[in-house]
Amino acid sequence: MNKRITSLLLCFVMVFALIAIPTPAFADDTSEHPEVTFTIKPDKTTAKPGDTITYQVFVGPVVKLRTAQFELVIPDELEYTGGSSPDGLAAKLGAAAAEFTPSTKVYASYGAGEYTSTEDTLLATITCKVKEGVAAGKKPVVTVINDEENFFFANSENTYYTINYDPNGAMVTIAAEEKPATNITLNKSELTLTAGDSDTSLIATVTPEGSTDTVVWSSSKTDVATVDSATGKVTAVAPGEATITATAGTKTATCTVKVQAAPCNHGSFTPFPAKDSNCTDKGWDAYKKCDLCGKLFDMNNAPLAEIPYRDLNDDHNFDTTAWGYKEADGHAHVCSRNPAHHDTVVPHTAGPAATETTPQTCTECGFVMKPATGHIHVDHLTKVDKEDATCTADGNKEYYECTCGKLFEDAAAATEITDHSSVVLPKTGHSYTVQNSDEAHKRSTAADCREFDTYWYTCANDATHSAKDDAAAADKFYNGEQGAHVYGNEWVDCGETGHAHKCQYHDAYDAVQPHTPDHEGGATYDYAVMCSDCGRELEPQRVHGSIRVEVPFKLTVKKTGEMDPGQETFKFAVERFGAPVTYTLVQDTVETNGEKTYEGKFIFTIRDDQAGNLSEGFVIRQVKGNAEGWTYDETMFYAIPMFADSYDSVRGWVFLKFDEKGELEYNNPMEEIGFTNSYSAKKPDTPPAPQKPDTPPAPQKPESPKTGDGSTLGLSIALVIVSGAALMGTALYSRRKSR
Ligand SMILES: [Zn+2]
Ligand SMILES: [Zn+2]
Ligand SMILES: [Zn+2]
Ligand SMILES: [Zn+2]
Ligand SMILES: [Zn+2]
Ligand SMILES: [Zn+2]
Ligand SMILES: [Zn+2]
Ligand SMILES: [Zn+2]
Repeated sequence: MNKRITSLLLCFVMVFALIAIPTPAFADDTSEHPEVTFTIKPDKTTAKPGDTITYQVFVGPVVKLRTAQFELVIPDELEYTGGSSPDGLAAKLGAAAAEFTPSTKVYASYGAGEYTSTEDTLLATITCKVKEGVAAGKKPVVTVINDEENFFFANSENTYYTINYDPNGAMVTIAAEEKPATNITLNKSELTLTAGDSDTSLIATVTPEGSTDTVVWSSSKTDVATVDSATGKVTAVAPGEATITATAGTKTATCTVKVQAAPCNHGSFTPFPAKDSNCTDKGWDAYKKCDLCGKLFDMNNAPLAEIPYRDLNDDHNFDTTAWGYKEADGHAHVCSRNPAHHDTVVPHTAGPAATETTPQTCTECGFVMKPATGHIHVDHLTKVDKEDATCTADGNKEYYECTCGKLFEDAAAATEITDHSSVVLPKTGHSYTVQNSDEAHKRSTAADCREFDTYWYTCANDATHSAKDDAAAADKFYNGEQGAHVYGNEWVDCGETGHAHKCQYHDAYDAVQPHTPDHEGGATYDYAVMCSDCGRELEPQRVHGSIRVEVPFKLTVKKTGEMDPGQETFKFAVERFGAPVTYTLVQDTVETNGEKTYEGKFIFTIRDDQAGNLSEGFVIRQVKGNAEGWTYDETMFYAIPMFADSYDSVRGWVFLKFDEKGELEYNNPMEEIGFTNSYSAKKPDTPPAPQKPDTPPAPQKPESPKTGDGSTLGLSIALVIVSGAALMGTALYSRRKSR
């Protein structure tokens, strides 16, 4: 940009030169040229090294200004830091360009316009800094190159202005560098002067030496003492005390100045005649006061420090028209000058004693000696007796009521009943809980056992209250006796004790009556005993049982040959019963194995009703076998059982043998019997030929009950029984009769 402006400027200069040539303006007399004033204005007239100075360049009143140029010259003491023209200057001047160029420090304006102004017009502003080390007192000046080529102004008619320019107008004086005060002291801290005098003895010393801060003086009270702000000269004005302050920069020092009055010649007095004291105001002895200085003197001209006051005395001014003092100790008259003063206190004169509404007062002064007592409850109490509550009405406890409405527990009104409802004994309400099961309280009578007689309850609190009379207590009744049962006509079995009639509606019975057996003599095997009324079986029909009969005997195996007897089974049988018996066989064999005596048993069962027949006896014998080498004992014995009392078991046996004639040997009864079988096999000479296997025996038919045939023995056996019974104590069996 600078280049462009520079080239424009050159161009302009050339054009201007061409224009100027035909217009030899400089050849003309200067008086024909209009004048213009050119000014360079610094913003300060003094500056210190380092300060920045701003210069403004103006041109004075102009008429039809068209072209202008100047080039600034900066002195050595200053450092140029920049410059510019105001914005819009070219437009303002109507110029093609109007600008200060910082690099060249040249200002130029040109174009085809013209500019007229009666005021100074700012063309450029520059700034410069005072270089460090520039000595104080130097006076640098910003100037222009003052020749026709570099410094000119011309109007629209190409006429050059005559320039009024003061080259020293922009002079700035360089000041010393600042040296702020670090301390200031005064040579005196206190100074005493007499009013009207002046003093120049105060000297301020500022540190460091050569400080640029100057000392400024001031006074705190200029009506006491003034001070010259520059010199420190103090002038005393009037008696009093003032503080003189010396200030350098931020530092201060002070001196107290005491101003004394000028001595008085006491040329004029005002006299004060003596005056008496009273109880409140002090009087004084006669004295006089100097009108000039105010000092006091007695009447002999001796100076006084103060007014010679007299003491207060008892000169009161009691107001005897009223008792101004009314206290507990009595009444008195009060001094009109001081209400705290009173004459002798006289005891009060008591009036009538205090009542509830009227206090006791002094008849003289009206002082309340005793206040009205106020309402005293105990004087107004009415006793309210206890009233018990009833079922239907509240009662109350005992209490005392005052006319004021308060209630109390006691006649002394010591304990107040604040909760008035607490005196109430609430009504109890009926308590229908008492039962009186009599006609008077009967409510209903049961028709039969399905109903109960009902009765009204009576109130537990008051026996005269019956639910019967209380419509609100319709449900207050209770069940009494149940109605009579309605028994049927049938006898009902009630167990072993008997039978009775049952209620149609309940499991209830009338008196139990003994059962009625339907026959005498008890139950039989054919009939039970039944109640002929209720049908209960009183005794069940007898039931037949089974009796097990075991006939004991011994079986001895003897070896009579060369071979030991081996395993062998021997069979036995019973027959020839004394009376017909039907039995069921259980066991009829004995197993043996070798030479020995074995315990054998022939076992069968009979029905219990056969016991009588069996007790007539029977024959027991061995069934002869056909095993090789064996000899079978064929002895027959007669066995007679002895039954227990209950005929349900055999508890013993009597055995008889047959003699050679086949008759029973009654005289020789035996308690046990035995059989002896002999084995007589010899050792075989030759090994026996292999035997054919035995054909399996044909299946045996089960033994059918057998009936002994003892008819031929009937009478004999009866004898045996008789003698056996006598011998063994066996009871005869008799069949029970049956109805
Ligand atoms: Zn005086
Ligand atoms: Zn007084
Ligand atoms: Zn009184
Ligand atoms: Zn009262
Ligand atoms: Zn009261
Ligand atoms: Zn009641
Ligand atoms: Zn019933
Ligand atoms: Zn019965």
